[in-house]
Amino acid sequence: MRKIEHIGIAVKSLENANDLFAKLFGQSHYKIEDVLTEGVKTSFFQVGPNKIELLEATNPESPIAKFIEKKGEGIHHIAFDVEDIEAEIQRLKTEGFTVLNEIPKKGADNKMVCFLHPKSTNGVLVELCQEIK
Ligand code: ZN
Repeated sequence: MRKIEHIGIAVKSLENANDLFAKLFGQSHYKIEDVLTEGVKTSFFQVGPNKIELLEATNPESPIAKFIEKKGEGIHHIAFDVEDIEAEIQRLKTEGFTVLNEIPKKGADNKMVCFLHPKSTNGVLVELCQEIK
């Protein structure tokens, strides 16, 4: 893994959270993107070299809806930038981590993504992402 790519925060209302985080960071989000396969609507903020992703559920079956139901709003995942996502999935499986989707899927912001089960990572939902070139 090369660096933290972004931190994902689950919110109930993307509209309200966009206003709030714009005040916090002193700048607006730079994009909004629907990820239909995940049932989420996302927005992205660039804070210096770092990126923050806000996620709102678009249907009650969305993982974000379930997360908020169980834990409330807050930090949902940490995403790491990887060079070769398939090699990294194999490496992490060998190390004993539970990979939620062994075949990388298309995520937001032009990335192929994969998630590790939080039970295998001390309660932290880890996302791997590889930029689509
Ligand atoms: Zn993410």
